[in-house]
Amino acid sequence: MIPKKTPGPRRSAATEQALRVRGLRLTRPRRIILDVVRSTDVHPSASFVYRRVRRRLPSVSLATVYRNLRTLAAEGLLMERADASGLRFDGKTDPHDHFTCLRCGRIYDVPVSPNGGVRTRVAATTGFEVLNHRIEFYGRCGACRRRCGRTPTAGQRRRYGRQEP
Ligand SMILES: [Zn+2]
Ligand SMILES: [Zn+2]
Repeated sequence: MIPKKTPGPRRSAATEQALRVRGLRLTRPRRIILDVVRSTDVHPSASFVYRRVRRRLPSVSLATVYRNLRTLAAEGLLMERADASGLRFDGKTDPHDHFTCLRCGRIYDVPVSPNGGVRTRVAATTGFEVLNHRIEFYGRCGACRRRCGRTPTAGQRRRYGRQEP
């Protein structure tokens, strides 16, 4: 998989600033890990990040990458999400929903509706005060729809619909 954007000098400067603001030490692995996650929209797994980081830091271990990913997520610099394929990381931290393609497994970002439609509806129908929400969509992405006209099997729908780890 090829990242959409390559980390440039500006991105690195933003990364450093983000780390500094949180009072996290600017270790080289940490900086590179954050750069790698932020420069892709594939919602990578720890091993994906590890393979990318190793190109720039050949001595790094998977354990170090994993530990730093968890730290960065705990500090809110990354988002962490568990899905059918395991733990995945997201460099985009502003509110957004996700669409998982049941054919290719890719996770796409979905912008939230600007008027907060779903929260308003939930609040109106239940009386709850909604502070946050997470919506997962499942289906077939554009590329998979073009490649194959078939709909996903009932088994696939069940499996993903239940959101098992
Ligand atoms: Zn797809
Ligand atoms: Zn995302």
